[in-house]
Amino acid sequence: GQGDFSPPSYPSPWMNGGNGWQEAYAKAQKFVSQLTLLEKINLTTGVGWEGESCVGNTGSIPRLNFRGLCLQDSPLGVRDTDVNSAFPAGLNAAATWSKQLMKLRGNAMGMEHRGKGVDMQLGPVAGPLGRTPEGGRNWEGFSPDPVLTGVAMQQTIQGIQDAGVIACAKHYIMNEQEHYRESTGTTKFAYSANVDDKTMHELYLWPFADAIRAGVGAVMCSYNQINNSYGSQNSYTLNHLLKNELDFQGVVVSDWWAQHTGVASALAGLDMTMAGDQKLASGNTYWGSNLTAAVLNGTIPQWRLDDMVVRIMSAYYKVGRDKARVPVNFNSWTLETDSYQHPEAKEDFTQVNWHVDVQGNHAALIREIGGASTVLLKNTNHALPLKKPKSIAVIGEDAHDNPGGPNSCSDRGCDIGTLAMGWGSGTANFPYLIAPVTALRAQAAGDHTKFANVSNNYDLAAVTAAVTGAEAAIVFVNANSGEDYITVDGNQGDRNNLTLWGNGDALVSYVASLNPNTIVVLHTVGAVIVEEHKNNPNVTAILWAGLPGQESGNAITDVLYGDVNPQAKTVFTWGKSREDYGVDVMYKNTADPPQLDFSEGVFIDYRHFDAAGIEPSYEFGYGLSYTSFSYSHLQVNKEFAWPYVPIKGHTKTAPTFGKIDYNFSHAEFPTGFHAVHDYVYPYLVGPVPTGLPQNWPAGSKDSNPQPLLAAGGAPGGNSGLYDVLYTVSARVTNTGSRRGTEIAQLYISLGGPSDPKIVLRGFDDLTLAPGQSGTFAYQITRRDISNWDPVTQNWVINHYPKTVHVGASSRNLPLSAALH
Ligand code: BGC
Ligand code: BGC
Repeated sequence: GQGDFSPPSYPSPWMNGGNGWQEAYAKAQKFVSQLTLLEKINLTTGVGWEGESCVGNTGSIPRLNFRGLCLQDSPLGVRDTDVNSAFPAGLNAAATWSKQLMKLRGNAMGMEHRGKGVDMQLGPVAGPLGRTPEGGRNWEGFSPDPVLTGVAMQQTIQGIQDAGVIACAKHYIMNEQEHYRESTGTTKFAYSANVDDKTMHELYLWPFADAIRAGVGAVMCSYNQINNSYGSQNSYTLNHLLKNELDFQGVVVSDWWAQHTGVASALAGLDMTMAGDQKLASGNTYWGSNLTAAVLNGTIPQWRLDDMVVRIMSAYYKVGRDKARVPVNFNSWTLETDSYQHPEAKEDFTQVNWHVDVQGNHAALIREIGGASTVLLKNTNHALPLKKPKSIAVIGEDAHDNPGGPNSCSDRGCDIGTLAMGWGSGTANFPYLIAPVTALRAQAAGDHTKFANVSNNYDLAAVTAAVTGAEAAIVFVNANSGEDYITVDGNQGDRNNLTLWGNGDALVSYVASLNPNTIVVLHTVGAVIVEEHKNNPNVTAILWAGLPGQESGNAITDVLYGDVNPQAKTVFTWGKSREDYGVDVMYKNTADPPQLDFSEGVFIDYRHFDAAGIEPSYEFGYGLSYTSFSYSHLQVNKEFAWPYVPIKGHTKTAPTFGKIDYNFSHAEFPTGFHAVHDYVYPYLVGPVPTGLPQNWPAGSKDSNPQPLLAAGGAPGGNSGLYDVLYTVSARVTNTGSRRGTEIAQLYISLGGPSDPKIVLRGFDDLTLAPGQSGTFAYQITRRDISNWDPVTQNWVINHYPKTVHVGASSRNLPLSAALH
């Protein structure tokens, strides 16, 4: 509640360039040392909304011919451009459970951003994690399980950064719902996510630790407050957790207009502000000229400014931007070839789009991920795969094209036609979108299958005619969500319910009442209530295809006809009712700031269902194949590991790079300077205030060596956390008659009274021919069997007996052994 309080942590840790950052740090120091004050300020501050071509643009350094940094959405492809690919959403990447596909997807997206001239791709997403199934942006991320999300973050980040583009892990942290994420008409403040230390570490921070361990160059802070302090100026989450404990060496960038103060955010660890203006195209800024003034009058010490800039440039060099950079060749505000270079000001009419085709052969990967992420939830009477049926009927608007074209709704802010991504900033334009009906019709033509289709979910007469007597009736239905700045069918980002959209549930029931071989395909952003359809004997198959991107129709056809054997397992729990989840979005506030108490602790999704003894329709990790697998031969070996050593010692003194010219008049607008309208500059806009109050947070300007944290010292936390304590292996055998891929899963019971029954810790995909066996192996780390201890502020292995379980889902774990 309102009493929850985020403890202060100062000074802001300065970069030390350790653990994989050495080379980048050295290059950055050299670069930053030659910069003037104004040039440094320029790299920290966006030029304002629609000031340049990208959704975010820092100022530039014309003297060195260094253009500003281009930051561009989204987590599933390059946003707001053309001849780019529209990839499957993060949720689908997770559903493949394939590290290789996650990384290939990241790399392909990174290559597309690189080809467009983007310096920083604004993704991937680990916040929201997915506390509530209704959360509007869950699909941009991966899964409510922190381990699955952590692995997906790691792989995606490596893929993006291997392409020479900075990845940005967002939104840090507890950005778990859209309602009240910002102050809006109805509240003065954004919501506060109130969370305890243990839950923070064991759940929400976990995947960010993995992102940092993977070397992510940037982290975007969230709009919301955490324990009543804004994400953009929360010294505990930024200074203490991120930069100190997790040893993050890169740059913290604000979410767009999430900054609320100039000096306080700088001292609390923010390094870059976006879009740079205080409010959308407001023409003023918290930083820019104000940061210049704050440095000049001594409010912000030079080392803090230098640390911001050296972090920004280190991220740049770390991923090899100096070798990968091409000119920005698109414009986010128009697809026309010629337009304004400064769209907000409508100035500098020139060529802004070069329409560079960056798609490569990514369509094949998109189709592959589409198939590999489709979860087969139900398959009775060998309904699937289809074998040249005599006739099929394809039913539902969700099987069909949006008549206006796949991009006709801005930022995909509608639910018309087949659903292949949610809405908001986490989107990309489709180069094309293969609707299911298109691919299925082509397949039927080749098979000489009689084909009928109906796109209107309410035209029951047409549906009756199409499905009656058809050998199979395939019904496509969806449920959508997105970002709060667009409301679709009354859903302000977050979903209002967990039912299917557009008469979907009634449509499925109606088709099933007429056709005993009804196959349901779900394009949904997360869980929907399917218990009734699951129990309907005429519904012979249910598939979840999620948000598959541009190759949607081809991918689902591959699975329906068995060219692809499903491997995916569900990355969230399918409850029988909304109440079963135990937590929900706060739609109506009772306080300002709205207080979101995360009192369920670590018990979200399957952890809650297990603890509360609730039977779901389909459990986390569940999914069928056209073949079958068995598990045997569990082996646990204890490995040698050195004892866990809490980190001791101190940092160095805060370094500074270059000299600051404290002559105020040198920071004024040059005479005759033409200022672009609403553009954010580093030049002073008035006299520099002097004689300011000196009551800034205690220690916030201290540049002396600082104590290291026991749980810190290396990216992702104390390196001893990642020591291997046990090696586990098991045999997986394909007992069916088809080649297939099994996702073997490893869970651990930590055993304590306040622990979940089981927690996922590892998984792997094994592709096996009929009769073939393979070995699943996982190395259990110290972190895997530790709990966060708020008292010692470290991870500890407690004395409760721990058990390892291996199997096919969170509720199908045939193999177990004690961990001694
Ligand atoms: C979103 C971010 C996005 C940014 C830029 C914000 O509203 O929360 O995810 O990267 O806008 O479009
Ligand atoms: C922009 C998004 C941004 C949002 C923030 C929209 O106008 O297009 O990029 O995320 O504002 O509220």
